[in-house]
Parts: sequence; C-alpha cells; structure tokens
Amino acid sequence: MSAMVDRLALIGIGLIGSSIAHGVRECGLAKEIVVQSRRAETVATAERLGLGDRYTTDATEAVEGADLVIVSIPVGACEAVAKEIAPALKPGAIVSDCGSVKSAVVRQMQPHLPAGVHFVPAHPVAGTEHSGPEAGFAALFHQRFCILTPPQGTDATAVEQVRAFWQALGSYVEIMRADHHDMVLAITSHVPHLIAYNIVGTAAHLEAVTESEVMKFAAGGFRDFTRIAASDPTMWRDVFLNNKEAVLEMLGRFTEDLTALQRAIRFGDGDALFELFARTRAIRQGIIEAGQETAAPDFGRPHDGEAER
Ligand code: NAP
Repeated sequence: MSAMVDRLALIGIGLIGSSIAHGVRECGLAKEIVVQSRRAETVATAERLGLGDRYTTDATEAVEGADLVIVSIPVGACEAVAKEIAPALKPGAIVSDCGSVKSAVVRQMQPHLPAGVHFVPAHPVAGTEHSGPEAGFAALFHQRFCILTPPQGTDATAVEQVRAFWQALGSYVEIMRADHHDMVLAITSHVPHLIAYNIVGTAAHLEAVTESEVMKFAAGGFRDFTRIAASDPTMWRDVFLNNKEAVLEMLGRFTEDLTALQRAIRFGDGDALFELFARTRAIRQGIIEAGQETAAPDFGRPHDGEAER
C-alpha cells in the first residue's frame, strides 16, 4: 500500500501507540514515524524495537511538521498534552486520539487546538491487559471496531482520512456521537471491567479466610475475571473518572437487575434464572457469529505467544 501520511507523530507509545506503529510499518502507511513518550526509558525501548524513524521525549518537537498526530496516553493526561502540542501543530494537520472515553477527551482537547487543525477523536475497541511499547502487535486492530466521534462541523475530508487509516490497519470503522459512544462503552467495556476489579478484590479479601482455595479453584470462572482485572490501573482509573455519568447510569441498571436475581435465588424462582441464562447464552452466540469473539473462554483476547501476536 502507498503511504497515506508523510509524517506521522505518535504521542505515547504504550500498547496502543506501539500497535499502531507496527501496523503502519507493516502496511507502509507513513513515510516517516516520529515516536514520543514522556519517559526516556520508554523512548529507548521504542527505539530498540524499531517502532519509528525518529524518537523524542518532547511532544512539541514530535508534532512539528506532522500531517497526522495520534495521541495514545491515559485519558486524564490528554488536556495537558493538547495544550503543550497546540502551538507546534502544522496548519491543516489532523489530530486524533485513542482514548476509551470520548466526551471528556473532546471537552479537554478541542478548546486548545488551533483553528485550521482538524480534530478527529477515535477509539480502537481492541486491547489486552498488557501495557507499554513491548506489548504492541499489528494484529491487535484486525477485525476490531474503531469508533470515530468527530465533533459537529469537523472537516469531512479529515474524517475520511482517519477512517481510511484505521481501515488500512484492519479495523471496521463506525462513526457516532461522543456521548452515545460513552453510553455504549460504559455497558460493553467499562462496567464489565469494574465488575472484574470488584470480584477479584472481594475474592482477595476472602483468601485470607480460605487460604489458597481461591487460586486453586480459579478455573471455576474466576480466572477469566483475573485476566481483565490485571488491566492497567492508570488507564482504568482515568476511564472511570472521565466517564462518570454513563458508568453510574449503567451501574444503577446493573444493580437493579442483580437485586432481581438475588430475589429469584432467595425465593427459588428457577424459571426466572433459567429464562435469563438462556437469553444470555444466545447473546454470546451472537457475538461469536459477529466475529468479535472465538468460542474460547478468554474474552477474545489473544494469549502470549499465540500466532495472532
Ligand atoms: P500504556 O501501554 O500504559 O501506555 C501509555 C503511554 O502514555 C506511554 O507512552 C506513557 O508514557 C504515556 N503516559 C502515561 N501517563 C502520561 C502522562 N501523564 N502524560 C503524558 N504521557 C503519559 O497505555 P495504552 O494501553 O496504550 O492506552 C493508551 C490510551 O488508549 C488510553 O487512553 C486508553 O484509554 C486507550 N485504549 C486502551 C486500550 C487497552 O486495552 N489498553 C484499548 C483501547 C484504547 P511513559 O511510558 O513514557 O510514561
């Protein structure tokens, strides 16, 4: 494929930034990749892995002359970085991000970006519980969705360029409003992560009582939760702090439904339990059929050393 971008600046080179770098290299999507991360150790690791053509810890220097800037850092750090890079952005440049929350990112970044720079927020709905530049791999985005949430009035050509970029990385692209994205992701990703963090925390308290039994019998369902609950603490803290309303709304509904299940168990209402479990089994089948999961009980995440990495 011929290069779509002359100079690509990757601000943040963790799991997501490095996966973009691998994908861009594999497909030849950019003539030059400039890699930035705030800590010198991370930049050195990126350089050892050959993720870019130039490396720096300075975000301002990284974006100079870039046609496309992709910010892949924790959501809570986006505003400071937008302020920092704004004066150095080339007129006509496209700025995008990868944050798992969209309304807060738009609120925090957009006001700082100069007129003539196009802002096309994005969320690749793909991830693992691993972090850092060594965790990345090009196939992360293959056959996964990338949701774009361009604010009203965003230049249509810029949106199409970002769409084409993610499609070239192997993703399916959808466009939606930022607030709608946040509601959908609250129930499909954010609340499930919160449940995993919570159940692993509860079991950890119990372990003091049951000694090692929690670990010994983990295959009974708990193991899959521990995998999700190993996800990056900074990233997930920022997701919950920045998608507060949608998460609280979905948690409210979740708690009501849980109370109904609690009642069904208390009063021996087997029909209610069976009816729900039969419905949820069909939902999983639908996800497998949509190609967003394999039948393996691993939440669709590739394992270390698997061919997909
Ligand atoms: P990661 O592997 O932990 O990498 C984080 C990157 O951000 C590193 O380059 C780190 O720099 C930099 N960073 C951390 N704190 C910073 C700060 N305060 N200011 C500036 N830079 C900072 O994270 P990731 O998994 O790639 O996630 C990046 C973004 O993608 C997040 O917004 C997340 O919500 C989103 N996302 C993640 C996933 C997932 O499953 N992980 C999926 C989709 C979207 P140093 O190493 O130099 O400190």
